[in-house]
Amino acid sequence: MTGRLEGKVAVITGAASGIGAASAVRFSDEGAKVVVADVDARAGQALADRIGGSYFEVDVTDAAGVEAMYDHALQRWGRLDVSFNNAGISPPEDDSILTTGLDAWRRVQEVNLTSVYLCCQAALPRLLAGGGGSIINTASFVALMGAATSQISYTASKGGVLALSRELGVQFAREGVRVNALCPGPVSTPLLQELFANDPERAARRLVHVPMGRFGQPEEIAAAAAFLASDDASFITASTFVVDGGIHAAYVTPL
Ligand code: NAD
Repeated sequence: MTGRLEGKVAVITGAASGIGAASAVRFSDEGAKVVVADVDARAGQALADRIGGSYFEVDVTDAAGVEAMYDHALQRWGRLDVSFNNAGISPPEDDSILTTGLDAWRRVQEVNLTSVYLCCQAALPRLLAGGGGSIINTASFVALMGAATSQISYTASKGGVLALSRELGVQFAREGVRVNALCPGPVSTPLLQELFANDPERAARRLVHVPMGRFGQPEEIAAAAAFLASDDASFITASTFVVDGGIHAAYVTPL
């Protein structure tokens, strides 16, 4: 590894699993000190121990908890350079607009969108005080494209993350804080693997739209996040950073 993140301190939410966990490993391999932030204490603590970072238990929908998370980063590691706001959920009760109840709608908005508002609101003053930094918010390719297999609150929440990130990127561009929205395509996480192993037709319906003909790996999203976190991305802000195997650009895919 190149040590691109040497000397930097990164907070990663949702870091106990999937994309967040792969990113914690990658950031650490590149030299960062990582705060592994998650509700899952067992997996979060184990990962923090493995990479020589620290675990912080947080529910990202809780404003006081989010503030305390960044205070922890500053107290434990002395600075804050990167906030990767990645925690998110996609529960089965969030489905077609015709069947999704208000409780399910609100829960997804809280965890996926309000959390990003809270994390940005708490991280920005601390990043500005430290002279700048990088915020990466996890949106999704579904913020860019429509699906007939709807998860309506999830899609709306990710559209919100995308617009919020763009606005903050523009607002703080001259103050040294870069803000980008990362838009992964479908990524092979345990949840997705289980879902599609039980239902190959469901997998095939999606794979036909992917020019590369496969789902992404968490490590491939982590590599993009590490780039956006690093000074290699010094002229990139307010971007819609798509890492999706070409899905968003495709009309007809290769046979
Ligand atoms: P994952 O389920 O593997 O990991 C999500 C982590 O977030 C878990 O460790 C979970 O404990 C944590 N979390 C959930 N609610 C939380 C809360 N309230 N407070 C703190 N932590 C909480 O998911 P993943 O697939 O790695 O997804 C990570 C992000 O990427 C999400 O925002 C997701 O919407 C987005 N995304 C995923 C895919 C995909 O195909 N997997 C595609 C596009 C975008």
